[in-house]
Amino acid sequence: MRKIGVLTSGGDAPGMNAAIRAIVRKSIYHGIETYGVYQGFSGLITGNIKKLEIGSVGDIIHRGGTMLQSARCEEFKTKDGQKQGLDCLNKHGIEGLVVIGGDGSYHGAKALTELGFPCIGVPGTIDNDIPGTQYTIGFDTALNTVLDAVDKIRDTATSHERTFVIEVMGRDSGDIALWAGLAGGAESILIPEEPHDMEDIADRIESGLKRGKKHSIIIVAEGVASGAAFAEKLKERTGLETRVSVLGHIQRGGTPTAFDRVLASRLGARAVELLMDEKGGRAVGIKNEEVVDTDLLEVFEQQKHMNDDLYQLSQELSI
Ligand code: ATP
Repeated sequence: MRKIGVLTSGGDAPGMNAAIRAIVRKSIYHGIETYGVYQGFSGLITGNIKKLEIGSVGDIIHRGGTMLQSARCEEFKTKDGQKQGLDCLNKHGIEGLVVIGGDGSYHGAKALTELGFPCIGVPGTIDNDIPGTQYTIGFDTALNTVLDAVDKIRDTATSHERTFVIEVMGRDSGDIALWAGLAGGAESILIPEEPHDMEDIADRIESGLKRGKKHSIIIVAEGVASGAAFAEKLKERTGLETRVSVLGHIQRGGTPTAFDRVLASRLGARAVELLMDEKGGRAVGIKNEEVVDTDLLEVFEQQKHMNDDLYQLSQELSI
């Protein structure tokens, strides 16, 4: 393989730049040219492709977002759009493609693989919801951003003796809520994977208040309910006034943590190694500290399971 492409797609995640850097530099180290496809799969359709040199990826390892930009591209979900993308790759003489993104992006990579074009999926999303890896690039940074906010909100919650409802990202995956809730000592954590019991939540708050607790923090993943809707229901049940904080897009940005930079560098480098070995159609990931790869076409047959032990622990510690 002499020429490979790289694109970032779907929601941006801190550490994507570190992955791009690793892909470009690992390739150049091994005498392979790298082409950046800008704005996700739409760049494949419009031909927004530029050659990347060593210096093109300088000074980005510490930056959030993605230098290649990202986009949602509905056209690429159609056979016609995928065919156009394939033609574009062939026209540029690109022989393999690394796709960094979440589950939707993996489906795009899967579609190209099914058309016979070698693609490698690199898990880049703050949601930590991709099968085939324990951690996705961006999750650790987002988690620390949320934790920082939880700690700050706790200060004001304690000072004013208030209950706060904090809404965090996670439509189908509760990992951000669960990990931030455990690390931040939240009283209740609501995640899409587990049903919640309003009576239990209300009882916890009330018994906390009785024993002189000065604040309560409830973390709600957006897939369960909006913070405002949940606060309203809680008020109906307990009469308790709460303050709601929606963390929103700050969770996506910021300087990637050391963990995310190292993970991105390792996974990006493995993606290039796989293409060098003519092993297209793989998804890279990390399991028990080892870089692993699985079949991209089968990766969604596995389910990404939430960590039940962590959830149980959070329940036991938040009495
Ligand atoms: P995140 O989880 O952070 O939102 P994502 O990769 O899941 O990231 P999506 O918007 O779902 O984000 O997908 C990104 C892009 O991948 C889409 O805009 C589209 O171009 C492409 N894509 C999604 N699903 C498919 C599909 N079934 N076939 C081909 N391409 C797809």
